[in-house]
Amino acid sequence: MVKLLKAFNLFFLAYTFVTFFIAANAMADLKSTDNSDYKFNWPNGAKAAVSLSYDDALASQLDNAIPALNHYGFKGSFYLTLSAKSVNERWEDWRAIAKQGHELGNHTINHACRASLPNRQWVDKNNNLDNKTMAQITKEIIEANQLLTAIDGQKIRTFTLPCTDNIVEGRDLLPEIAPYFVGIKSHIGVIPASMKYFNPMNAPVIAPSRVTGQALIALVKQAAKNNSIASFTFHGIGADHLAISTEVHQQLLDYLAINKGIYWVDTFRNISLHITQDN
Ligand SMILES: [Zn+2]
Repeated sequence: MVKLLKAFNLFFLAYTFVTFFIAANAMADLKSTDNSDYKFNWPNGAKAAVSLSYDDALASQLDNAIPALNHYGFKGSFYLTLSAKSVNERWEDWRAIAKQGHELGNHTINHACRASLPNRQWVDKNNNLDNKTMAQITKEIIEANQLLTAIDGQKIRTFTLPCTDNIVEGRDLLPEIAPYFVGIKSHIGVIPASMKYFNPMNAPVIAPSRVTGQALIALVKQAAKNNSIASFTFHGIGADHLAISTEVHQQLLDYLAINKGIYWVDTFRNISLHITQDN
């Protein structure tokens, strides 16, 4: 009988322990999905970071975005497609904006995209990413970094994927090029719910075109509420393709300037370095 009691006690103890273990695990699970207590530290006590990026090396960015940014001392990231007309004709202007503290980012030399995806009739058959090898495109991206260094003297920069196309020869391009960058804007996304799982090497962007200033402001407000980041990728500013108007761009900058204590506006290079080094 004593033996039986002992055995029962042991069983009960084990049962209690297992129950406790399952409950503790369930609590941990709950915690991992609840980001409300996760605090991310941005410089100067800011609630959110704002990355203002501009793809494709467009003349309207030099003519319209740069004066607007410089007016407030905001630094942006300009992802140059190095074969673009404006790089050939205005490389000294790009060099000058790098000297002002803006980032010249890598957007490859030729901007190859996959013709096999929907609505890609416009892709030049000689510049079809589906026909390129991983070795070719990696080499092009490394050479783009070398050309950018010739323009701005910098060795550390970030990358944006042309057309957000990351599959080459059926494989993911991002791990191949990761050693050459401190940050990669790779896909269309939303304002992150928190910084807990944010990976600057595979970062989401919001690419607005034909939006209102209020819509852009609502996005940065959401980033402040989430203690996360508003990662924008613009194209034309007041002209060129996928444009937003200069007025809409200005409304966003005005709002950020009025609320400088809430938002840390900087290059994606500096934001990525902060995320990986300071936290
Ligand atoms: Zn592009």
